[in-house]
Amino acid sequence: MDFNLSPESKMMVKAAKDFCEKEISPIMDSIIENNDYPDDLITKFANARMLGLVVPKEYGGVGTTNLNIILITEELGKTGSVCAYPMLMNNSTAETIDYWGSEDVKKKFLPPLCDGSAYACTAFTEPGTGSDPRALTTTAVPDGDDFIINGTKRYITGGNKKGYGVFYVKDEIMKGEKGDVTAFVVDKSSEGYSASAPWSLMGLEGMNCVDVFFKDVRVPGSSILGERGNGFPILLRWIAGERIQQAAYMVGLGQAALDESVKYVKERIVGGKPMGFMQGFQWMLSEMKGRIDACRYLTYRAACLQDDGKQIAIDSSELKIFVTTTIQEITRMAMQIHGSYGYSKEYKVERLFRYAAHAGVVATSTELNKTIAGSALLKSKR
Ligand SMILES: Cc1cc2nc3c(=O)[nH]c(=O)nc-3n(C[C@H](O)[C@H](O)[C@H](O)COP(=O)(O)OP(=O)(O)OC[C@H]3O[C@@H](n4cnc5c(N)ncnc54)[C@H](O)[C@@H]3O)c2cc1C
Repeated sequence: MDFNLSPESKMMVKAAKDFCEKEISPIMDSIIENNDYPDDLITKFANARMLGLVVPKEYGGVGTTNLNIILITEELGKTGSVCAYPMLMNNSTAETIDYWGSEDVKKKFLPPLCDGSAYACTAFTEPGTGSDPRALTTTAVPDGDDFIINGTKRYITGGNKKGYGVFYVKDEIMKGEKGDVTAFVVDKSSEGYSASAPWSLMGLEGMNCVDVFFKDVRVPGSSILGERGNGFPILLRWIAGERIQQAAYMVGLGQAALDESVKYVKERIVGGKPMGFMQGFQWMLSEMKGRIDACRYLTYRAACLQDDGKQIAIDSSELKIFVTTTIQEITRMAMQIHGSYGYSKEYKVERLFRYAAHAGVVATSTELNKTIAGSALLKSKR
């Protein structure tokens, strides 16, 4: 596998760096203070050509690679802000619609998700479960050519932002059959659709994780993705891609933690000298760098497999198990290097540590990733 970046990829990395400096840095403090980002953030991503990245140009997309999404995400992760997530949500939801949607569905939903006029979301989790499709209780009941959806979704990133989402619900008629989960594209301004205030999280300020309430929401049957009752494979495919994208975000957080640490040990005087002169800190920094590089290359590798059309379910689970624990440890080391200042909100490393904590439970928990990767090993003929 060749990790020499193409001229296009290098250009995208440069554009992402510029974007972070020009568009994200000035609003960082206000995002944290308000626990929200400005509504026009998504338009800014669209103007920078960071939406619909793998969606074909005919639907308003950029038509580029998953590797480029990863590279952009890593840059956004370095800011230590939540801003990567609305960008990722639009990209991954649009990709799902492009892959599974009918021509009419693609024509209707992809252009607004690519031109920044709509925020996306993807919703599986409910109050009763985030891991088990059998335990879903949100239902869709057919009514002529439409379906009527009732129920509650929980922790839905961007579920409160105007636009469209892919929602996984139980088909009341098919209930109990093996495939009884159906994926619907829902307009978030539909009558009967409402959202709670955002959950107050340990980190990721501005994530906009909300509960979504469906009260007799009428959705046309034509907005089903794939086949009725075939929602679970659609979810599994989406979430495997999410694992790689989240790993890229974690790599960005880890790199930022290292950068802050290198800066700090050069400036902080201990025993009359900058603390970087102490060998112990040099060793810590070198360890951090090696581990981040390993995470980065594994992440690029998984994205390249995805671009080659290979199965990524197992590789992405292995990747996430490794990256989650490694980067969490990197951010802890960065806090330690900063002494008491690392425990202060005045310093970026405190935020990086809190943000890194989410990866063990979001977009497939560590336990489920271990089950996916471990059971695949048992089935393997090698
Ligand atoms: C910041 C954030 C953003 C989120 N965004 C979204 C979103 O946009 N859309 C969405 O649908 N959801 C979202 N979620 C929800 C998230 O995906 C779920 O919380 C996650 O899937 C875990 O579900 P749960 O909390 O219900 O845990 P549960 O499923 O109740 O699991 C509880 C514990 O048991 C373990 N466990 C469960 N089943 C097994 C098993 N079979 N074997 C071994 N261990 C098991 C889990 O690993 C976990 O540790 C978000 C959550 C957060 C915190």
